[in-house]
This record gives sequence, structure tokens and C-alpha cells, in this order.
Amino acid sequence: MSSDKGMKRREFLKKAGVATVAASTVFAAPNVHAAPKKYKWKMVTTWPPHFPVLGEGADLLAQWIKEMSDGRLDITVYGGGELVPPLQAFDAVSQGMVEMGHGAAYYWAGKSPATQFFAAVPFGLNAQGLNSWIYGGGGQALWDELYAKFNLKSFLAGNTGVQMGGWFNREINSINDIKGLKMRIPGLGGKVIAKAGGTVVLSAGGEIYTNLERGVIDATEWVGPFHDYLMGFYKVAKFYYYPGWHEPGSGLECFVNKAKFDALPTDLQVIIETATMRSNIWMLSQFEAKNNLYLQKLINEHNVKLKMFPEDVLSKFKEYSDEVIAEVTAGDAMSKKVYESFSKFQKDVGAWAKISEVPYHKFSG
Ligand code: CA
Repeated sequence: MSSDKGMKRREFLKKAGVATVAASTVFAAPNVHAAPKKYKWKMVTTWPPHFPVLGEGADLLAQWIKEMSDGRLDITVYGGGELVPPLQAFDAVSQGMVEMGHGAAYYWAGKSPATQFFAAVPFGLNAQGLNSWIYGGGGQALWDELYAKFNLKSFLAGNTGVQMGGWFNREINSINDIKGLKMRIPGLGGKVIAKAGGTVVLSAGGEIYTNLERGVIDATEWVGPFHDYLMGFYKVAKFYYYPGWHEPGSGLECFVNKAKFDALPTDLQVIIETATMRSNIWMLSQFEAKNNLYLQKLINEHNVKLKMFPEDVLSKFKEYSDEVIAEVTAGDAMSKKVYESFSKFQKDVGAWAKISEVPYHKFSG
């Protein structure tokens, strides 16, 4: 009986509700044209304010989101240190202090080692491969699974392309030359250098130049010719080595507080996702368009000695990289799960590249 009554009461309320809605539609007609809800968000980044390409990319991402949403999602961008220190961006977004962040996933290896596979893996996927894995090979679902634990949702939002091996104040002729070498090289690549007997020194971006100049470090990696030129490393180290075996196509990311993202209307969610894809292509294009131009400037105007790592050194780096990755995946179940997908995908695209990209590049010049 009481449940029947309850049912009737609910039905009545439902009908009354409909009537109320209908009445308000009639009598409050101007509300139909009320402005849609506007969102004022903050984005913290791991880059110095308006840093060339990387910080500019974050600025543009916010601008595109505002333009695409006709001002409904208005994001103010903060450089590293302006609101929170660069490497606290992850926590700031995770905890909801700000809604959005921009950086690179390998900065969060201390939160979960699996994050590194979404930025750069020594001898791993290049930019094209990383895009294909994230957008077409199941990578995004794994990224979502990993970041959901931190109340985050992340999107690819840039790529450096294949990086350079780095700046050295002396020649590297054999793997023994790495012994005792003090190098600024973060992430999994740093662990490889440590296995080869080098000393890994951590320096924030702004300190690298001075450390190299003063001999606190003997070598540093950074990005590639365009960005490295802007950093001025050619003034304090003359040997410029390639290839960037440790970062074959580093992905940059835009990470969003998941609860805030889920609460957005669908169109704004799609706008964020679409704008990050534009950002991803924009950033890679900036580097690819300018790298050779600046490499030639470095060689011809600044007397930089361009050198390739000897093949046996690269082979050793590869051997140590496999060991480092085996150690990381053995110690963390999520890393194992992510890397299984990553490495299987790399084998697949690698097999295809051997009959597509590789022979094509050999003859295309
Ligand atoms: Ca780098």
C-alpha cells in the first residue's frame, strides 16, 4: 500500500514538475536566451612563462580553446613558478587547486613509473609511433586508467620529434668515455647513463647552462638544434652528438582534473580534446620546420662539432636500456601492463616501417 502511495506521489510530483517547467517556459521566456555557463580555468605549466615552443604551445592551446568555445572556456596560463613550482603542477591539478596543467608525463615518474611510457622511452616510439599508439593503438585507454588513479585525464599536446644526443665537452669514442661523465639527463635515459658508469646530475632548465660552463656537468641533453640554440649551449660545449636515442619523440601532455573535466558539457570536452590534437601537430611542426636551419647555424656560425655516437656505444646504450626497462616493469604492475602494450605496438609499427619508412628514406634524400 505504502509503496503504491509512494508511486502515486512520485508520479504526481513528476507531473507537477512538468507543469512547472511548462509554466516557467511560458512566463519566463527571456531565460531561453540566457547566456550559457562560462568557465574560468587556470592552467599551470612546467615551463618558464611563454617559453619558446613549449610554453608558447600552452598559451596557444588556451587561446584556441577560448576561440573554439566562443569564450565559454577561458583559461589563464601560468608559467612554472608563477602559481606553483614547475614540478608541483601534477599535484596542483590532481588535487583540484587548478583545473589544468601542461608538461611531460615523465616528470611524474615519482608518482608512478608508468607515466614515463607516455613521454619518452629510450629506443622507443618516435612521434609518429607515439601518436599512433595513443590515438589508434590503445595507448589512450591505458593512460586514462593510469591517470584516473590521480583524478586526472591527460591528452597528448605536443612532441619534440627525435631529439639530439646532447652537448659534450669531450669526445665520446667508446662506452668507457661515459665512465665518470657528469651528465644532465633525466628519466630512463639517465638510468642508462648511470649503468654505463656516468653520474647523472639533475638540473632545472635554467641552471643547465651555468652548470655546463662551470664544469658542474660535462654534458647535457636538451631537445634539438632549434631549442638548444635558444638555450645557448654551443657557447659552453663544442661536441654535439646524435641521435637522441633516449628521447626519440617526446610527447608533451595537457592534463586536466578529471572531476572538473567530467563535469563539463560534452562540447567543451570535445573542444579540449580537439585543441590538444592541434597543439600536438603545431608543436612537432615548429621543431621539424626549424631544426635543420638551426643545426646549420650551429655548425657554420658557431663552429659546433657535429658527431654521431659510435655504433658500439649506441649498441651498449640499447642493451642498458633494455635492462633499465626490465627493472622498471618488474617492480611495478602498471608499468608492466603499459609497456607490454607499448612494446607490442612498437614491434608492429616497426615491422611496417621496415617496408615503408626505412626504404623510402634511403632513396628519398
Ligand atoms: Ca631531452
